[in-house]
Amino acid sequence: MKTRILVKDGEYRLSSAGCMDAKIDAEELFCYLTSMDRVQLFLRAEEEVDPETERKYMELIARRASRVPLQHITGQQEFMGYKFRVTPDVLVPRQDTETLVTEAARIIQQRPKKKQGFMSRLRGSADTTVLDLCCGSGIIGISLAKICSDIRVVCSDISQKAVDLAADNAKDLRAKAEFVCGDLFGALSPKPYKEMKFDMIVSNPPYIKSKIIPMLQAEVKDHEPLEALDGGRDGLDYYRRIVAEAADYLKPSGWLLLEIGHDQGEDLRKLLKDSGRYTPAEVIKDLPGRDRVVKCQRK
Ligand code: GLN
Repeated sequence: MKTRILVKDGEYRLSSAGCMDAKIDAEELFCYLTSMDRVQLFLRAEEEVDPETERKYMELIARRASRVPLQHITGQQEFMGYKFRVTPDVLVPRQDTETLVTEAARIIQQRPKKKQGFMSRLRGSADTTVLDLCCGSGIIGISLAKICSDIRVVCSDISQKAVDLAADNAKDLRAKAEFVCGDLFGALSPKPYKEMKFDMIVSNPPYIKSKIIPMLQAEVKDHEPLEALDGGRDGLDYYRRIVAEAADYLKPSGWLLLEIGHDQGEDLRKLLKDSGRYTPAEVIKDLPGRDRVVKCQRK
């Protein structure tokens, strides 16, 4: 069978199964199987596919048609131009989260750099410290470590499997970051971190309302870790805890940047205001124009 016909058949099967991006996924799976890129796929569309590849491709399509996320099949997802490993132990990286990373990187890069002595430059001691809470696969902290030079990044997560995966991602991408496991700020109780104050805390915590979860698409509700999604009755459980404690771990004027659901901007603005410990929060929109990030500074 010709490549073009086979991939079209794959697309048809995926869209019949209710998969959202059937065409993209059918092409991605063929590229994954044959190690082609999309340009090669286009140029070689009229070539015959051997029966063994055809059989293997149809197996992949059947898995995806059973609503296993594409990224669980390929084991990877690109984020900010970097390739991250993904497993069912972590949330699949969403493009939405690039809004948070872009804004955080902008703030870090605009910070006036302290003058460092020759020896501390030699040791590579970073003058800006960043904490990524609920790091999952590590996309936020690791991307910041790649984009911004001279920062010290600490990533934490309650799941040891997530922390291990994030550490593997940092190694693959040659990013300098440290990883600790624990429940939010509880992860910072070991010695070197106990006394640390950060210039910035970033987080994409679980924020979906519990009762919404059964209504999410099958890929998310049946395959992604519930503990990375469920933000409690009103979706704000983790924000309440983060807002209550973050100021204790921030330097004066240190930044707090949180990803939020598109309808949580006002709730977050109020939570932050009521705590009395932060400057008025600004809500930042994602590319499609929905509220996606809140940012403020410790007073
Ligand atoms: N944005 C994710 C989703 O829509 C949820 C991310 C989260 O809860 N942190 O599935």
